[in-house]
Amino acid sequence: MHSLYLHIPFCAARCPFCDFAISTEAVSGRFAEALKREIRGWGERLGRPRLRTLHLGGGTPSLPSAAWTGGILEEVRESFDLAPDAEIALECNPGDADAGKMASWRAMGVNRLSIGAQSFDDRELGWLGRGHSGAQTLQTVRLAREAGFRNLGLDLIYAVPGQTVAGWGRTLDQVLALSPEHVSVYALTLTGSKALAGPPLPPEEVQAEMALLAMERLEAAGLPQYEISNFARPGFESRHNLAYWTFVPYLGLGPSAHSYLAPRRFSNVAETGEYVSRILAGGEAKGMEETLTPEQQALERLFLGLRLAGGVEESLVAPGAELEALLAERLLERRAGRLALTRRGRVLCDAVTARLTATLALSR
Ligand code: SF4
Repeated sequence: MHSLYLHIPFCAARCPFCDFAISTEAVSGRFAEALKREIRGWGERLGRPRLRTLHLGGGTPSLPSAAWTGGILEEVRESFDLAPDAEIALECNPGDADAGKMASWRAMGVNRLSIGAQSFDDRELGWLGRGHSGAQTLQTVRLAREAGFRNLGLDLIYAVPGQTVAGWGRTLDQVLALSPEHVSVYALTLTGSKALAGPPLPPEEVQAEMALLAMERLEAAGLPQYEISNFARPGFESRHNLAYWTFVPYLGLGPSAHSYLAPRRFSNVAETGEYVSRILAGGEAKGMEETLTPEQQALERLFLGLRLAGGVEESLVAPGAELEALLAERLLERRAGRLALTRRGRVLCDAVTARLTATLALSR
C-alpha cells in the first residue's frame, strides 16, 4: 500500500456537468464518524502500512471546517504510518477558504492544493454552474501562497459551449500569470440527457486545436505534459495520481471510492446515506469487487501507461501491422524500448489506445 484516497462527498450544489457521487446535504458529524471508523478498520486490517500520498477529493473537501478535516487527518495518522515527506493534497473550490482555514490546513500537514478554477471567464463559469467567479480564484491563489503553499495545482475545463480557441488562450494566459506548479486540463464531456439539453460543445476539430494550444502554451512556460490531462513543473507531478497511473496499490475510502490491492479491485457504495448507515451499523460499505486476471492487469497497464509521457514497455504490445501503422502515422514513437504517444497521438489518445488494445500481448 502506498496511497490513500478519501472521498468527501459534500457540495454546496450539483454542477450541471458533474456525474460524481456527491451529497448536497450539510457536512455531518455522522459522516465523519463513519469515515473515521472505516479508516481505523482498514488501518488495523492492513497492519498500519506506510502512506506516501494522501489525497482528499470529492465532492468538495474544502467545504468542511478546518476542525472537521483536522479530525479526519488525525485518524489517518493514528491508523496509518504517514511518511514525514508524504504528499498530502486537498481539492479546494475557489472562495471556500479564508486565511484562517488555509493556515489550519498547512498546520495539519496539507502541502498541496488542487484548486478547481475551471475558467476565468465569468460567463463560462456561469454556464458550468460554478458558484464562484474568476476573481475568487485569484483571491484563493493569493491566500494559499500567503499561507505558505508551495505546491499549487489549477484545474481547467475547456470545450465549453460558446468558447473559442482565442478565449481558451486567454484562460491559459491567466493561469500562467499565477505561476502554478501544476495544471490539469479536461475537455468538458456531457453524457445522456445533459448532452442533449444544452447548447452544443465546440466541434471536434476545435477541441483538438484547444488541446494542442494547451500543450504548446503550458510546455513553453516550463510545465511539461506528463500525463494526457496533466502538466507540471519538474518535481511537482501529482505523486498520488502517478500511483494510480503506474498501477501501484491504493486504498480509497468514503462513498464511491475505488481501491486496487492487487489483484483485487473494489469500490464502496456511492450513496452517502447508505455508506454512513452501513459503516455505523458495523458493516462494510463495499459495493463492487472483482479480481483482475493477468490479462486484465496487462490491459490496464497499457491503458494507463499510454497516458503518461514516458509511455509503456514495448513488450506490452504485440508486434504487428497495427503497431507499425501507428508508428508510420506518427501517432506513436519508440523511445529506448518504450512506446509513447506523440503530441498528435496524445490528442487522439482514446482512438490510438483502442487500436493498440487488439495487439495486447496476452502472454504477459
Ligand atoms: S463542486 Fe465538483 S464535485 Fe461538486 S458538483 Fe461541482 S464539479 Fe461535481
